[in-house]
Amino acid sequence: MKIRKGDTILVRTGNDRGRTGKVMKVFIEKSSLLVEGINIQKKHRRPRKEGEKGQIVEKPGLMSISNVQIICPKCNKSVRVGVKVENKKKKRVCKKCNESF
Ligand SMILES: [Zn+2]
Repeated sequence: MKIRKGDTILVRTGNDRGRTGKVMKVFIEKSSLLVEGINIQKKHRRPRKEGEKGQIVEKPGLMSISNVQIICPKCNKSVRVGVKVENKKKKRVCKKCNESF
């Protein structure tokens, strides 16, 4: 899993194609993530009490990791990411500008 919380990603498919957003949460076991402002699901909430108004609640839905691409913080392009080990730590490397991040 190369995408982490806090990364900026580009959406490659679906209604939000071409949009970018910040990763809020990664679900490794589902290979999916929640991205701020992307794949918004609207839910209508009924009023519970009399006199209360119904509400539309907007929540981001899960995105499959295969539908997004990381935006490199160094060159600002959507890129493929490799991994290299530096000082025994795994670092992600942008395949376009070769910078690690
Ligand atoms: Zn880059």
